Amino acid sequence: MRAWLIISAFAAIEAFSPTFGPKLVQNSKLDALAMPVDKKKAVKDISTVFDNNQKWIDSKLAEDPQFFEALGSGHYPQYLWIGCSDARVPANEIMGEDAGSVFVVRNVANMVTGTDFNAMSAIQYAVGVLEVPHIIVCGHYDCGGVRASRENLDHAPPLENWLRSIRDVYRLHNGELDAIKDPEERHRRLVELNVIEQCINLFKTGVVQRKRVETYQNPDYAMTQPRIHAVVFDPATGKLKPLDVNFNDYIDELHDIYDLYKVDPDSKEAVKKRKQEEAIKAKARSMAEEGVRPHAPTKFRGDGENKGWWARLRGK
Ligand SMILES: [Zn+2]
Repeated sequence: MRAWLIISAFAAIEAFSPTFGPKLVQNSKLDALAMPVDKKKAVKDISTVFDNNQKWIDSKLAEDPQFFEALGSGHYPQYLWIGCSDARVPANEIMGEDAGSVFVVRNVANMVTGTDFNAMSAIQYAVGVLEVPHIIVCGHYDCGGVRASRENLDHAPPLENWLRSIRDVYRLHNGELDAIKDPEERHRRLVELNVIEQCINLFKTGVVQRKRVETYQNPDYAMTQPRIHAVVFDPATGKLKPLDVNFNDYIDELHDIYDLYKVDPDSKEAVKKRKQEEAIKAKARSMAEEGVRPHAPTKFRGDGENKGWWARLRGK
């Protein structure tokens, strides 16, 4: 009896104590991404920040004495940038844009997640109030967040919860990704597909849909906005690459599920644009029937926004 009690007590300790419990897999791969010792020794003094700030002010004033007067007079950005927190991907710098033109959201692996109040609030403000005409979702190759999502390790909350959304992107595209044998090529494609999925997540939001319907119907706007752009940055070359993606195809497939707003079919602009679109489709159809694709305008060649139309027409 005494022996049984001792064994039971030991079993209880083993079950509840990390010392006696089964060994857990640690985040050894994340540790491998930590700063190397030689870089730790080269830490900058914080005073550098303020010294450099004064140099920046001086250089801006030398270029344009009214620069800060203009900057202080209002906030009118052209772009909402949704990028990774990675230090190698500074939004303004790589686009050559000055202070004042880019409204920025950055997080691990440039995610657009419906339950992320930070990103959702920024998108609401940028689209609804600042009325940015363009949203850029920028991923980058060699992304630590995307790499971590491919490890079968528990990175512990909240990071692991965040990475799960990237694991979901892999699940959505596992056929294409599994077929890529080279691990680095597979990583790069996952980075690209993750950007595309985050763009689609933007199209799902009420604030983006509402603004697009409003601007589609309102002739005061030069275009339906916000326009959403999928891009990838390569830190190894500095190149910012637009991804060849036709969001119209995705929207056509998904609108039954995600549409929150619809264009008023009787609005003046809707009637006008419907006629224009009908004329374009009729022309494309007759060209498809005549088999004149090589001489067709870019719009019908399958590399523009209407790629899906050509494929569908050709399939008929
Ligand atoms: Zn990253």
